[in-house]
Amino acid sequence: MFRTAIAGSLPKPAWLAETHKLWPRWKAAGDDLAQAKLDATLVWIKEQEDAGLSVIGDGEQSRQHFVHGFLEKVEGIDFEHKVEMGIRNDRYKAMVPQVVAPLRLTGRVHQAEARFLREHTTRLTKFTLPGPMTIVDTVADRFYGDRVKMAFAFAELLNQEALGLVEDGIDIIQFDEPAFNVYMADAAAWGVQALERACQGLKEAAAVRGRTVKTAVHICYGYGIQANIDWKKTLGDQWRQYEQVFPVLAASSLDQVSLECIHSHVPPELMALLKGKDVMVGVIDVASDTVESPEEVADTIGRALQFVPAHHLVACTNCGLAPMDRVVAEAKLRALARGAMLATERYGA
Ligand code: ZN
Repeated sequence: MFRTAIAGSLPKPAWLAETHKLWPRWKAAGDDLAQAKLDATLVWIKEQEDAGLSVIGDGEQSRQHFVHGFLEKVEGIDFEHKVEMGIRNDRYKAMVPQVVAPLRLTGRVHQAEARFLREHTTRLTKFTLPGPMTIVDTVADRFYGDRVKMAFAFAELLNQEALGLVEDGIDIIQFDEPAFNVYMADAAAWGVQALERACQGLKEAAAVRGRTVKTAVHICYGYGIQANIDWKKTLGDQWRQYEQVFPVLAASSLDQVSLECIHSHVPPELMALLKGKDVMVGVIDVASDTVESPEEVADTIGRALQFVPAHHLVACTNCGLAPMDRVVAEAKLRALARGAMLATERYGA
């Protein structure tokens, strides 16, 4: 059976937060909110298991946004005085916090939800963190004066949290780097190195506990929001952004790479550049509410199999499902698992 996983995020239930939004407001506060986040996590663990997925995540139910969920526990950032900044090479404007002093982690960031996830499933678990380059592209720098220096400062903090996640029993630690598809030369020059810094010592820490841990990076063309849909229209018939960074990733210590495939203009042969790595192939579109048929999912897996050996292929979503309708997301999880099952019948695994 082909392995199946989600990229990371899932929609938040209406009783937890505003729906259909990337930056939803919470509907509770204090202890009630902490409990509601875990309750929502439990719902999604069950939904993923029932759909038949082999790798289970927390659906990022405990964080408001995939970058700022991490930053909230970082000292040296001024959240009071946000400034407007163009991010992802000015694709959109956002009000971002400012780095004003040396960065330091004030404690564990995701311990509660990571342990909760581990306690409530016996399947493989995956946990996501933002990657250093994407974080650097989402905050204003008033202290380091150098993107690379600041990225490595964040990488050290991410490494501390990742080591904690290993201790919590997480099997796969994934860093989300949509910025790799925007700053391709920088990604190849230092972005992958910063990721490796974030992954330092994880395997050794797992081995001490008699376990193994895999490291992953998710590189996408963003959530299915209008600004991204408009941007994709400017990228032409062939999206070759992956071409610069995949060879560097293939030579890196990272184990898995998550990429967009279905309904994208990514030439499938670029997957061959990831020789030796697990490839999480996007077989579920997150920019459309139309639920894929198992046949369509199996067809996409079949296309990927021309360039990725079956034992390295993981069927996955193109990106997170956070802003989607909950019912649609549930149906897409089932389509993912059924399509992978059909692909197993067709192609073997
Ligand atoms: Zn993504």
